[in-house]
Amino acid sequence: MGGGEPCSVEGCSSEAIRSLSPKRLSGTSLRLKTGSRKAALCKEHYKQFKKETKEQRKIERDRFRTWSK
Ligand SMILES: [Zn+2]
Repeated sequence: MGGGEPCSVEGCSSEAIRSLSPKRLSGTSLRLKTGSRKAALCKEHYKQFKKETKEQRKIERDRFRTWSK
């Protein structure tokens, strides 16, 4: 390992912690840099990805209700 891979999100230069198929980002607000063949996400963008995909699947919602209490 050496020098992490950069995040593929447009305008972001943080180090990626996760790599996904770009298809999985469709439906989220994350935009990849032109020509990215995979979606490498930094910690913040991965968090955002998880949050947004969670909102799409409202099924999981109940589990997080306790948050707002
Ligand atoms: Zn990023």
